[in-house]
Amino acid sequence: MDSEIKDKIPAGAAEILERLRDAGYEAYVVGGCVRDCLLGRTPADWDITTSARPQQIKELFKHTVDTGIKHGTVTVLHRHKGVITPYEVTTYRIDGEYEDGRHPKQVSFTSELSEDLRRRDFTINAMAYAPGEGLVDLYGGVKDLEDKVIRCVGDPEERFSEDALRMMRAIRFSAQLGAEIEKTTWKAVCKMADNIAMVSAERIRVELEKLILSPEPGRFRLFYESGLTRHFLPEWEGCVNTTQENPHHCYNVSDHLLKAVESVDRRETAEDYPEDTERVFRLLRLTMLLHDIAKPLTKTVDEDGIAHFKGHPELGAQMAEEILRRLKYDNDTIRGVSHLIYHHEERFPADRRSVRRALNRIGEEYFPMFFHIQRADMRAQSTFMRKDKEQRLKELRELWEQTLADRHCVSLKTLAVKGADLMAAGMKPGPEIGRTLGRMLEDVLDEPSHNDKEYLLKRYLP
Ligand code: ATP
Ligand code: MG
Repeated sequence: MDSEIKDKIPAGAAEILERLRDAGYEAYVVGGCVRDCLLGRTPADWDITTSARPQQIKELFKHTVDTGIKHGTVTVLHRHKGVITPYEVTTYRIDGEYEDGRHPKQVSFTSELSEDLRRRDFTINAMAYAPGEGLVDLYGGVKDLEDKVIRCVGDPEERFSEDALRMMRAIRFSAQLGAEIEKTTWKAVCKMADNIAMVSAERIRVELEKLILSPEPGRFRLFYESGLTRHFLPEWEGCVNTTQENPHHCYNVSDHLLKAVESVDRRETAEDYPEDTERVFRLLRLTMLLHDIAKPLTKTVDEDGIAHFKGHPELGAQMAEEILRRLKYDNDTIRGVSHLIYHHEERFPADRRSVRRALNRIGEEYFPMFFHIQRADMRAQSTFMRKDKEQRLKELRELWEQTLADRHCVSLKTLAVKGADLMAAGMKPGPEIGRTLGRMLEDVLDEPSHNDKEYLLKRYLP
């Protein structure tokens, strides 16, 4: 077990531990990085915990930043071959109650490692390690990691009343690790769920997002079952109660949404977006989570007992925008998700002209994402007409690839005539320029060979 961690500790972290220890302090790597090593994963960052006080840490290292000095955190900048890596070094501390931010209201420092480990949320996150000394596991973290159990350190209700975000973290870790939440911990989540109302949208977003990107995003249902969604995504409640009496469907709306999230595959995303995999994967998974969010509000049942959801993509796009804004998402994400939801149901004939028009509506950048979305949606439906649906997506894709290969113009970006050309030909600046370019583009979408400056000017200029 020792080597699992020792061999992975980067030179920078090892050096920081050594310098602190040589100066007579205690020092360990701690928390997520220890957990990840024991799981055989490579940690993204390495946190260090020490008996040294912030001032003492700063005296030992030349390059430091006072990132969270009030809470005992000093960032040590380690430089190796010109590359600077930051390490958060935090003094052993006991946390008071958490405020609505990232940090506890007040902390007090302690000289006991055991106290510092006790303030941490779950047993699997409460282990420390130092080379030469080995693993410090005071709360049964190794066993819980082996058994795949998420268990609070200490009394769950008390821990969740200190910081309500921990309830979301419990569920998020269960989705990341495929772990079960221990019974009293789970009961406390259900009992204390309303406390999540006190937590900031930014902190909630981080946990929601980590769950959505995890290998088991279907565990989102635990957010609902515990009563947490009522506070951060009240729109979800209606989805749970909305059935879909329609041969294309076999799940209620909420189950369909989660199946669709699971159906977005990271490897498939990487094939189309090798350079931008994580951004697109996140966009696709968020889109699937919310793509049918307006179904409860648009449901009608016809005289044959078939359910319809007319207008749900348009209303859904609007609702997703509000939801993501409320969760303090950035504008790019909001725009992307809302745009994809707006178009998610589009069914157009599989011919070259229709594909050019769809490319123009949906946008060249978004078009491949549109395939991923329709495929994920299909996988979360009944198998009714599955072969036909797969065949159609395949054909659309081939048509799209041909359009790319032929470099057909589908937007003003590649239209042979620009606004400047129209002004050079005598048109006055003003809205008529845009209208004329629009007419030219319409023509070119119908007939790609018309993307010729001479032809277009002759045909469309008075
Ligand atoms: P991730 O892989 O998402 O970074 P992590 O466990 O490293 O997971 P961080 O938020 O980076 O999570 O926190 C580092 C460590 O700090 C955790 O492992 C845990 O020991 C402790 N911790 C973080 N947030 C809390 C919290 N809200 N309450 C108690 N302890 C926490
Ligand atoms: Mg971390």
